[in-house]
Amino acid sequence: MNKEIADLLFPNITTTVEEIEAKYPERNVKEGAIVTRFAPSPTGFMHVGNLYGAFIGSQLARQSDGIFYLRIEDTDDKREVEGAIEAILNALDAFDITYDEGYQKGGAYGPYQQSQRVEIYQAYAKKLISEGKAYPCFMSEEEISEIRQGQELRKEMIGIYGHYAVDRNLSLEEIKEHLDRHDPYVIRMKSPGDAHQEIVLHDLIKGDITLPENVIDEVLLKQNGVPTYHFAHVIDDHLMHTTHVVRGDEWVPSFPKHLQMNQLLGFKPCKYLHIAPLTKKEDGKIRKLSKRKDPEFAVSYYAEAGIPSEAVRLYLATLANSNFEEWYLQNPDKTIEDFTFTYKKMPTGGTLFDMEKLDNICRTYFSRLTAAEVYEKALPYYEKYDAPFAALMNQYKEKLIAFLNIERNSKRPRKDIATYKDIKSESTYLFNELFYQEDSYQQIVGEEIDMDILKQYINCYDVNDTQDEWYQKIQTLAETNGYAPTVKMYKEDAQLYKGHIGDICEAIRHILTGRTKTPNLYELLQIIGIDEFAKRLQFYQEIVGKH
Ligand code: GLU
Repeated sequence: MNKEIADLLFPNITTTVEEIEAKYPERNVKEGAIVTRFAPSPTGFMHVGNLYGAFIGSQLARQSDGIFYLRIEDTDDKREVEGAIEAILNALDAFDITYDEGYQKGGAYGPYQQSQRVEIYQAYAKKLISEGKAYPCFMSEEEISEIRQGQELRKEMIGIYGHYAVDRNLSLEEIKEHLDRHDPYVIRMKSPGDAHQEIVLHDLIKGDITLPENVIDEVLLKQNGVPTYHFAHVIDDHLMHTTHVVRGDEWVPSFPKHLQMNQLLGFKPCKYLHIAPLTKKEDGKIRKLSKRKDPEFAVSYYAEAGIPSEAVRLYLATLANSNFEEWYLQNPDKTIEDFTFTYKKMPTGGTLFDMEKLDNICRTYFSRLTAAEVYEKALPYYEKYDAPFAALMNQYKEKLIAFLNIERNSKRPRKDIATYKDIKSESTYLFNELFYQEDSYQQIVGEEIDMDILKQYINCYDVNDTQDEWYQKIQTLAETNGYAPTVKMYKEDAQLYKGHIGDICEAIRHILTGRTKTPNLYELLQIIGIDEFAKRLQFYQEIVGKH
């Protein structure tokens, strides 16, 4: 009778599961290779948690000579958002997460989009029905919701199981009657579970987790014949020969049903790595990152904020394995691809995603690039978000690179750049087009600046001086004008002097840049030039004159 029910429900499914299995042979990978996947649902929002999972999966496959593939899980058309698949592809591309096979790229284990695999799932459902392991359930939404209310009231487990599963043993005749009336139905599995039994999930990150055995007759195919996530996951990961499922730990409670589906289908379950959620500290409390409250949760945030994707990857690596950061600091010439991630070092609980920490990583990242690399990476950012500055970058390429190079190759390199945005904000005074537009001397107007000494300075400046000669000249200037040539001398008897050498240097810095903090002044003067300094001095005097 089961076979007849199966044929009645799926007259068009003529392909057998044996034929399907034959199309998905064992993978030709070496012993121990990890075959894993990124399996997002195109629901319109790709967050850093998704990216983190994809990152971990891709690294595990990479380091074991395995396979990382992309599967689009689009079985929930109600939640599907237009353009979401594109956003996923763009994010993977932007964060340099490459996959060996998958959606759009193809491969021998496709199609890699679940909506194109519906007949495959139906063939397996048909098989389960013919074996008496699944059945059509004609219960209406009202009936189900009534049952649910009762279960809630009585504090029972929610779902269709035991005596609630009224359609479990319908006769062929009863099913025919329903079908003649065109009653909508779903396909449910017949759970062989026992509520008093427990099962163990041997999670590779979290360790062993004991869970109650599943007893619910889970939906395998929805009314439209499309599978649920659970059923599609089990079948796809079996056919595509996934060895390890890397996914968010919100799926842990679903594991018992996945295990049972595997058992009903006769599949060997994959190994699982459940990733803890990314969290945030706010007002002393820790909470999950939220789509609504935290702009940094969306992967699209980073490009616009000028945060380099490489730095985000470094941060993800830092989160994934607690020993990564130290390794990276000790191995400045190595990349993430030289590191071997281990499950044991992956966090088992909520993982703090801290923007300040990311900021730090960004600074280290930028400090390790050459000036020319910083320039080349920043240019596309400005071309996209600030075309006028991109034009300045092109016009004054050498000048900007020289600026970025100041103190770069020293023992303690500059760390003033954390985002692409900082390149502009830290360098505006290099460009007259920006310098004279801004209220450049805002901070210091009214402060006493010894104009006379700065004018003398212009006359003694020589671009060919070494840094020592340059400094000595300022010291001489200090002495002849009643300033202490060293801070030490000034401190010994401040009354003897108008000020000290530091004050003169600060005055030069103010006039040259309008700022109190800049990289090395000697080098800045070389880049901007004494003639421009003279013009700015005059500009400054005009401003002071107006006040
Ligand atoms: N499509 C599921 C999701 O987006 C994927 C879970 C999994 O990786 O199996 O949450």
